[in-house]
Amino acid sequence: MATLFISDLHLDPARPDITSQALAFLESETRGTDALYILGDLFEAWVGDDDPEPEKRRVIAALRQLTGAGLPCYFMHGNRDFLVGEGFAEASGCTLLADPTIIDMHGTRVMLMHGDTLCTDDHEYQAFRKMVRNPDWQRAMLAKPLAERLALARHLRETSAAGMAGKSMEIMDVNQDAVVVAMREHGVHTLLHGHTHRPAIHRFAMDGHDAVRIVLGDWYTQGSALCWDRDGYVLRTLPR
Ligand code: MN
Repeated sequence: MATLFISDLHLDPARPDITSQALAFLESETRGTDALYILGDLFEAWVGDDDPEPEKRRVIAALRQLTGAGLPCYFMHGNRDFLVGEGFAEASGCTLLADPTIIDMHGTRVMLMHGDTLCTDDHEYQAFRKMVRNPDWQRAMLAKPLAERLALARHLRETSAAGMAGKSMEIMDVNQDAVVVAMREHGVHTLLHGHTHRPAIHRFAMDGHDAVRIVLGDWYTQGSALCWDRDGYVLRTLPR
């Protein structure tokens, strides 16, 4: 049986084609699999579990179908949907995962991350992350009326797009030293993450071992999924 990993769908009411592909994926590709891991940025924005936006509700209902049928589904926060909370977990049946989380895949210890913590060259982003991951900041944010949170999220997205335009590709990629530090700290030689939108399998040597960093792709123009069974893993592109 295979385990599926996806990330960076960036589901957005303005992009119904992504939601359609995601819903089709959840319905068909999960058949006969034994777990689904979503490694962050499932949603382009998430301002609180009380947002009634219909496309989000459709995706949650699709996840609920899967978990209700007995498929374990896991969700890790990304830098867009970091406010996903217990309300989402209850409605979808997904289990929320810490970043990082280590799992065992057929005898291989695999470290799962969203990937944003590895982009240590982007100091501006890391400062922002520190702010928005603070429980006090999150409590204050979630206490605001929904309309105010939606307006704030819109503003943050615009600022983020403007900020990214001025940054080099290198700054927004992972820092290899940060990768090695994290892998060494957790005693793993396999890392799987998303976030950078650069799907690839990077092999390198670490402390005399072969190490691998698998990067999931985004879903902007096509889908991306890692499929892992007892014969190994395949990083797949899913045409729209
Ligand atoms: Mn991300």
